[in-house]
Amino acid sequence: MSPERTTAALLLDIDPISLVRGKRGLGLFDYVNDRSYVSSSFMSTAISKVFGTAMSGRGDDHQELADSELDLSATITMLPCKEHDKLTAVFAPLGYQVSYYTFESDEQHPEWGDFGYVNLTIKGNVRLRDLLKHLYVLIPVFDKQKHYWVDTDEVEKLLRMGQDWLPDHPERQFITSRYLKRQRRLVDMVFERLAAGSATEADVLTEPVEQGVRPLFQRRLEDVFDTVKATGATSVIDLGCGEGNLLKLFIADSQFRSITGVDVSTLALKRCSNRLNMDEAGESMLQRIRLFQGSLTYKDERLRGYQVACVVEVIEHIDPPRLQAFEEVLFGYARPRTIVLTTPNSEYNAVYQIDTHRHEDHRFEWTRAQFHQWAVTTAEKYGYTVRFSGIGDDDEVHGPPTQMGVFTCE
Ligand code: SAH
Repeated sequence: MSPERTTAALLLDIDPISLVRGKRGLGLFDYVNDRSYVSSSFMSTAISKVFGTAMSGRGDDHQELADSELDLSATITMLPCKEHDKLTAVFAPLGYQVSYYTFESDEQHPEWGDFGYVNLTIKGNVRLRDLLKHLYVLIPVFDKQKHYWVDTDEVEKLLRMGQDWLPDHPERQFITSRYLKRQRRLVDMVFERLAAGSATEADVLTEPVEQGVRPLFQRRLEDVFDTVKATGATSVIDLGCGEGNLLKLFIADSQFRSITGVDVSTLALKRCSNRLNMDEAGESMLQRIRLFQGSLTYKDERLRGYQVACVVEVIEHIDPPRLQAFEEVLFGYARPRTIVLTTPNSEYNAVYQIDTHRHEDHRFEWTRAQFHQWAVTTAEKYGYTVRFSGIGDDDEVHGPPTQMGVFTCE
């Protein structure tokens, strides 16, 4: 320790036998386990207990230091990790230089292979609170086990600890899915809360998805895409296209010769245009795809002439007094042959254990009965028929997380 530099070491003494007997950690481990030797969720818990004040950003006598970016480095010994490239992929976007030491097997026994642990060092100019939060979340991302049962509390923790850096992290899907131990219901909850309206779902469809975890937003877009494709349509308009995840699917399929995205938000459209590389698009692409800014509650000629219109997770962003204008524009004026519309099923919020809307910009969320009533009434009024289906895992009591109505007219 010197006036300029100090080191803190956190050493845990874990009794492997009490883990097995369930005194700690709910008896989640076998007798022979590595827990006392590795950096794991026990380390995260210890970080939050020992460095809780620093993590909250409070510095009492030295608040200016707590608020400044400092030249910090952290070494995590014996971090379980076999996917070494993920270390850089996860830590480098947070501003760290990453180095690590691996433990290759004994020269005598090459067949033992890599032991699957690293000593990791990260170094960067960051605030101490950020470094601690990164470690708190990311140690258990690499160590696949947790010493407690993962449940909705973990979603809150992840959103709280990750709010400043997780939404834009290129590996956010990997981090979320691993942190929540690949429980799809919880992963969905995080993305539903991070995503709607704030246009943070960028690139989700191009990111590798961990096996077995296909988050809800992805299933939703794929279900909508399949429904549209099955109509045989060649022209489609995506109303409230956001960053263009659905448009991307249409572009990749040559059945669709005319593809248009509309959004009221210029920021969303800008991101959409970047993601679709519109600046570099050639003549044929520009003929095939169009983006424009507009609102679904005003009659606009550019909304007409498409065989199919998609309205995915948009209606709940419209103020109830403007709904009638929206119906008139879409069903009365634009009048595509098919309309594929999705919206959250509010009953399912009980499964997510939230008693608010899924996103703060949602003006309402409908139960299945409310959605059916609106859809049937609107279909009748404008000469459409409607069929319903659910998207995502169906809960016996509360139904699916997303509900879809497919409207058709002759
Ligand atoms: N359909 C996309 C985005 C859903 S978020 C997806 O599923 O990923 C809702 C989007 O609707 C936002 O991009 C928002 O800007 C847009 N939106 C909300 N009200 C709108 C309106 N009146 N007209 C057009 N777009 C609207």
